[in-house]
Parts: sequence; structure tokens; C-alpha cells
Amino acid sequence: MAKPLSIMYVASEVVPFAKTGGLADVAGAMPQIIRESGHDIRIMMPKYASVSERVFKIHDIKRLTDIPIKVGDETHLGSIKSSFITNLKSKVQVYFLHNPEYFDRPGLYTDPKTLKDYPDNDDRFIFFARSVVQTLNRLGWIPDILHLNDWQSGLIAAYARTIFRNEPQFKKIKIVFTVHNAAYQGIFDKSAFYKTGLPEEYFSPDYLEFNGKLNCLKAGLIFSDAITTVSPTYAKEIQSSPEYGCGLESLFYKLRRKTKAILNGADYSVWNPETDELIAHTYSAADLSPKLENKKELADYFKLKFDPKTPIIGMVSRLVDQKGLDLVVKSLKRILAMKCQLVILGTGEEKYHMLLKEAAKANKKQMGLELAFDEKLAHLIEAGSDMFLMPSKYEPCGLNQFYSLRYGTLPIVRKTGGLADTVVDLNEKPNSGTGFVFEKYEARELVATVKRALTAFKDEKCWQRAMIRAMNKDFSWNKSAAQYIDLYRKLMKK
Ligand code: ADP
Repeated sequence: MAKPLSIMYVASEVVPFAKTGGLADVAGAMPQIIRESGHDIRIMMPKYASVSERVFKIHDIKRLTDIPIKVGDETHLGSIKSSFITNLKSKVQVYFLHNPEYFDRPGLYTDPKTLKDYPDNDDRFIFFARSVVQTLNRLGWIPDILHLNDWQSGLIAAYARTIFRNEPQFKKIKIVFTVHNAAYQGIFDKSAFYKTGLPEEYFSPDYLEFNGKLNCLKAGLIFSDAITTVSPTYAKEIQSSPEYGCGLESLFYKLRRKTKAILNGADYSVWNPETDELIAHTYSAADLSPKLENKKELADYFKLKFDPKTPIIGMVSRLVDQKGLDLVVKSLKRILAMKCQLVILGTGEEKYHMLLKEAAKANKKQMGLELAFDEKLAHLIEAGSDMFLMPSKYEPCGLNQFYSLRYGTLPIVRKTGGLADTVVDLNEKPNSGTGFVFEKYEARELVATVKRALTAFKDEKCWQRAMIRAMNKDFSWNKSAAQYIDLYRKLMKK
């Protein structure tokens, strides 16, 4: 058998500790599967205020306290604490970077009060990046692979390949950088570049400069040995158009040979209607009837009239342009003119909070709205809805469609990124369809597709067959984790 690998997996959010979106789900699930395959994978993330030391049994690592870390001309202290993610089969060590000034805040990247990014996010993630590098130095553990995720860890690759490249830890290490969302690039004023302490020559368009500013995502792309995207379609999209590549399309194209698409998976230990502890009525493809009880509970939650024959369309999403919120807002009247109920759970941009609030107030009998981040309600919406709405403008992978499929809640999606790779249109392919897919990013198309879904819902037998087909789809992590292991091994041979 091949020698087990050692991997440091770095992410700015990890379930169950902190989450704003899909990255956290991935970072909480994928390493466990890699660990189950016998590899030594450890995670590092910041310790935010929401990460309770008591709940997660987090302890100090004495020899890793008060590490001096430079941000610009200042030196700040970082301490490493530790805990584990455990499931029945594995135990993954997690290192938390603790610095109250930077991370003891109510939000991860944005202030929940103002909904604006924290103004010192550059300092915070420069500090984080340097801490990861310095922690690796001090741990005396030399991993084979350093796996980084998104802009928040992009600078780590730059440090490892420039000022720290001669340290023993980094001489042989291979760096993998995963792009979960190319639209978030960590762009900061030029002054932030000087705070990184990186040599001046790297502030050029060939390296970290982007329109006169520092771009942290570019650091991860350029200085890594391999890039991965979270779905095949998204890999193509970001290489071919500014709409998806967000100004980095030429760079993505240039780096295509070191890019590999590995579709995300779903963590069925958390998202499984047969075992879900957050719903009152578990169900399976063999016994769908309890799903109706969840539907009743969902209707009650939002004070909607429960009617088995009126489909509930659910949506759980960050309320931002990416997720197609402008289409939803534009289509609301026309959707609600049809026989259906709509429930939305999300937080995000203020304009969408306002517009949706107004709409929900004006359509109390048909629409439910919860402007919050609520894990339990997200599960109830997956379990209780008949359809799930994801009309994304772009979608690197998307996880909710996996969950919806598993819960027999047929997804209505736009054909982009991971949604294009995972949902099959029922009208187009009646014998293999699992949802409803539209192509053009237009309100008209969305409304027509919702209409198709509502029509299909009336054919009970056909609908149930589609539900069962969807529920039997397997998007578990095993396949994707095996692809990551394969990639790690290939890099090590180079
Ligand atoms: P993204 O990472 O772009 O936000 P994904 O579909 O990949 O989108 O993942 C989103 C994850 O965050 C899903 O697990 C989803 O259920 C969860 N989520 C998003 N908004 C909320 C919310 N308001 N309350 C609870 N869970 C949410």
C-alpha cells in the first residue's frame, strides 16, 4: 500500500465551528473522508467569537502561544488552540488561530450590524496567512501537501514560495489551491500589499497586483502547484468569460493546465432525511409519507395554510446577486400569481432584505420569509418543501441542490456551474430528470420554469418517481475525496 499522506488543510470557515456558506460545509466534510482513508490531514482556521471553547472542548497548545506575527510595521500575537472534528470513523485535528483583536467579532468577514466588510479584513487575513506559515514552522510537522481555499488563504501560498521558501517545511511541500468562488478575490488597496511584507517585485500584474490593488486570490492561483475548482462547468466558465472569471479569466485560462475540476460532495451524515436530527419526521425513498408532516410543520412555521396539493417552493440562500435574487424579486408577482407557496430563508444585501420584506408583507398568505441564518430551519425547508429554488447567476458548485435532491425536493435551477453538472431537467428527460433547469438569466425564463414545475407537480405518480430518482442520486464525498487524494499523489511525484 502507498504511504499515507500528510496534509494541512486551511480554510477560513469550517463546519461545525463557523459557517457563512458552502466552503464551511466542504471544509468540515472532505477532510474527514480523507482521514478515513488513513491520511494525516489537519485543519487550520481562525478562532472567531462564535467558536465556543467549552462546546468544542478547545484547549491551548502551550508551546504555540503568543507567536509574534508581523502585519506591516506592527507585531501582533497569535496563539494556537486545538480541538477535533470527530465522527464515528475518524478524528481530524483542528488548529485554531486565536487573536481576540482580529477574530473575536460577531461576524466572520462582515459586520452583521452594517452588513459591510470589516474595514481591516486585509490586516486580519494577512495575519492569518502569516500565522499558518509560522505555525507550520513551529509545529515540527512537515506535511506533504498544503491545501488552501479561497482568497482568505491565498497569501499563504505567496509566503511559502517567497520569504519562507527556504524553511524546511516549504522546500518540498506541494500547494493545492481550491477556488470555491472566483468573485470573491480579497482585493485591497496597494497599502495592504506593503503590510504583507512580501518583496516589492511581487506587486506587479504578473503577480499580486490587480488594477493597482492587492489581489489575494491571485496569490493562491499563481503560487500554487495545482488549482482545483468545485465543478467542471465552473472551471470552463471562469476561463472563458469576464462574467464568471471576474477579471481573472485570462489568468484562469493561462493556468488551465494545472487546473483540475473536482465536484464537491454532500455530507450525508448531516444531510440525510432518513437520519436528520434537525427534522421531526424522518423519511426515505421507500417511505415518503412523513415528508408531508414536515411540509405541515413548515407551513405552520411560516403561518401559511397547509394544503398537500399546493406546492411549497423553498429557498435557503445568501441574499446576494450571485444567487439570482434580482430574478427572484422581478419574478415574485408572476410566481405568486400561480398556485404555490414560497418560503425564503437567508441573509445578505440590505436591498434584498427590504424588497423581500415588502413582498412577504403584501403576500402573507402565500409567502414566508425569515431573514436569519438558521441551520435548523434550513433542514426543515429542505424536508418540507416540494421544490427548491436556485436561480443562480453563477454557481461554482452549489450544495443546496445536492441536499434538495437527497430530500426529494426537486430543484429549480439555472444551468450554470455545478448546477448544470448535477441537475437533469425533467421535461427534457422524463425518465432520468431530477429537477427543472433553465438557461438564460431572465425573469421570463425563471417564471416559465416554475410554471413547468408546478404543472409537473400535478402528476402525482410522475412526481413521486422523480423524487425517488433524485433521492437515490449519490453525490457523497467518497468519489471527490478520492480525486483529491489522486491529485495529491500526482503532485508528490512531480
Ligand atoms: P454558497 O457557498 O455560495 O453560499 P452553497 O450552496 O455552496 O452556496 O452553500 C450554502 C450553504 O449555506 C448551504 O449549506 C446552505 O444550506 C447554507 N445556508 C445559506 N444561507 C443560510 C441561512 N440563512 N441559514 C442556514 N443555512 C444557510
